[in-house]
Amino acid sequence: MISVNEAVDIALNQSSILGTDTISILEAKGHILAEDVYSDMDMPTFDKSAMDGYALKCGDVKNVPTILEVVGMIPAGVYPEFVIKSGCAAKIMTGAPLPGGADGVQMVEKTVALDNGSVKILESVSPEMHVAKKGEIIRTNDKVITRGSYISSAMVGVLATVGREQVRIFKPPQVGILVTGDELVEVSRKPEPGQIRNSNGYVLYNQVRECGASPELFSIASDNVEELSKKIDSGLKNDVLLISGGMSMGELDFVKDICEKLGVQIYYNKVNIKPGKPTLFGRRNNSLVFGLPGNPVSASTVFEIIVRPAIRKIMGFRQFHNLKVKAKIDRYFVSSTKRESCLSARTFLVNNEFFTSPLPSKGSADFMAFANSNSFIHIPGEVNEYKKGQAVDVTLRDEFEATCLDQ
Ligand code: AMP
Ligand code: MG
Repeated sequence: MISVNEAVDIALNQSSILGTDTISILEAKGHILAEDVYSDMDMPTFDKSAMDGYALKCGDVKNVPTILEVVGMIPAGVYPEFVIKSGCAAKIMTGAPLPGGADGVQMVEKTVALDNGSVKILESVSPEMHVAKKGEIIRTNDKVITRGSYISSAMVGVLATVGREQVRIFKPPQVGILVTGDELVEVSRKPEPGQIRNSNGYVLYNQVRECGASPELFSIASDNVEELSKKIDSGLKNDVLLISGGMSMGELDFVKDICEKLGVQIYYNKVNIKPGKPTLFGRRNNSLVFGLPGNPVSASTVFEIIVRPAIRKIMGFRQFHNLKVKAKIDRYFVSSTKRESCLSARTFLVNNEFFTSPLPSKGSADFMAFANSNSFIHIPGEVNEYKKGQAVDVTLRDEFEATCLDQ
């Protein structure tokens, strides 16, 4: 049986970028830029006032206080036609272009407007003080963002500034999600005795979306070789196919055999991870297949630990893994397993220090404990007793940021 790290690496080795898509910058956040972006203009495009105040000649206000004649008013968006002569100033708004002849701006707080239309300047200014010079942030033809960069909301601002309504990104994978199990019914139905609702499909769908990839949830497949074969075969049209259930050793666990018959090359079908041992990874042509355990906690955990890094690599991310930190365990804790474990935990910040609380769980099927967690504690397997305050490795999930201050 292979280790978690080997399982992650094998999947990563088989994952590569798919090409590019052009999308609107309204949708660009969270994707990876697939082109270098250049500016089509200087920013600022003109010398501009960074303050509400008076545009003037700095040489006129070396000795203060001094009185200047106000010859005009310049709102933002208007290019002034007049020129400032010695002894004169113009009222200017933030973002407005500096008029000809002026080389500085004094902010309104350092002036007194006089009844006769003049202004008294109370302090000297130097040319660079309240003026943003043409091209000081970006010059025409500067490379403003490099291919491979993560597009944040602020990056979208840069794209908009240089006139890019559309941008080329690495193509997010189409991820098909197939759940199998004779006991499964749709969420809208009330399960009869022996049945349960399909929750995995919906959890995986949202996990895929969280990565920025494009999920599609198929209808439930029964544990029937013919039906399952058809659905897996058609699911293999996707860049990535996730199958939940039918992965264990039960008589009706057909996924591995069917994958083999359909020509999927199987790299592994067991991983030394708890929860999540019956995990399969394979490939047919350009499709990757992940077979996940049906157990909801296991399926979701394996997605986070093994599938997510692969999807991120396909999407062009340079960093594949979620952040791993050291946290102090907040209670005495004994782990009962010799297998490498990912324990559902609630990690929180107190005075900028990470603390983590393993959630009391009724076993690996306890999806309520999992739902209240925001992280995994990694238990190496050989250590099984932890003292309160002992440092452990913790992987923070996406929900950490939204929940790290609740205790
Ligand atoms: P399996 O891996 O198919 O043996 O399933 C293991 C456990 O997970 C069983 O208790 C199943 O009922 C449950 N399970 C399987 N698929 C799902 C699903 N899509 N949603 C919720 N629970 C599931
Ligand atoms: Mg099953």
